[in-house]
Amino acid sequence: MDKKSEKHNKAMQKQKERVSATMAKATQDQSVVVLLTGNGKGKTSSAFGMAIRALGYGQQVAIIQFIKGVQKSGEELFFLEHLKDVPLYQMGTGFTWDTQDRDGDMAAAKITWDHAKNALSNPKYDLVILDELTYMLSYQYLDEQSVVDVIIARPSHQNVVITGRGGGSRLREIADTVSEIKEIKHAYNQGIMAKKGIDF
Ligand code: ATP
Ligand code: MG
Repeated sequence: MDKKSEKHNKAMQKQKERVSATMAKATQDQSVVVLLTGNGKGKTSSAFGMAIRALGYGQQVAIIQFIKGVQKSGEELFFLEHLKDVPLYQMGTGFTWDTQDRDGDMAAAKITWDHAKNALSNPKYDLVILDELTYMLSYQYLDEQSVVDVIIARPSHQNVVITGRGGGSRLREIADTVSEIKEIKHAYNQGIMAKKGIDF
């Protein structure tokens, strides 16, 4: 074996030992809250990826989206057309900076949160996705503590995925997994139009 291969094999062996050691320690089987935040692209698309993972195992999934609704994204079109059994509720007032109607937005947020609360109290659901929830908290359309209380009180087997930039400190505290997606660059900032199938 040449030196390069030997070095590679040694590194792989070490990596394997590290992974095995971590796996041996992760013995608790409990549900999780995943928070996907940060300015980079990939939060909502990752959440839908997890929805598909869960559906692959025959799990029940509910999706509640707190901002989008004017233009349907590809994943929404796919779910509405091919996965009709998966409840997908959208706030449907469009982007907040377009509507400039705080009272209307707040009322819509509360109705949407009622749908989320229903899912978060229904043991039928194995996974609840709260897409763009963080903005409802940062605009103070919803009370952070009440939201956190409902998430904590959910059925014990139910997983939750929350997306959106920011995400208050309480959400970060109660989440078991928090990923901050960092923007290195985005095509949009180089003047490239949002792409069907990639951006929406
Ligand atoms: P995606 O839906 O692609 O996973 P996201 O959920 O991480 O993105 P959002 O902040 O919800 O990001 O924005 C949704 C839309 O804005 C997508 O079309 C996405 O490509 C675009 N976008 C996300 N991050 C950036 C960025 N840093 N600069 C410009 N556009 C962005
Ligand atoms: Mg998003």
